[in-house]
Amino acid sequence: MAVPQNRVTRSRRNMRRSHDALVASNPAECPNCGELKRPHHVCGACGHYDSREVVAVTTETDLDEDAA
Ligand SMILES: [Zn+2]
Repeated sequence: MAVPQNRVTRSRRNMRRSHDALVASNPAECPNCGELKRPHHVCGACGHYDSREVVAVTTETDLDEDAA
């Protein structure tokens, strides 16, 4: 098995990883339905963006009709 010639110390490794933390998202409230949504993204709940519907949202999916 290969052994690294210069092993990175715990200190060096942890200093490198100090910048690896994930940042929390910043959800904003949808002005149409009030659901929390990602900024600059279409609302996943109602399909609205910039106060108009851009994606038609289906409320009910009938998968049984196609399968039968
Ligand atoms: Zn919405």
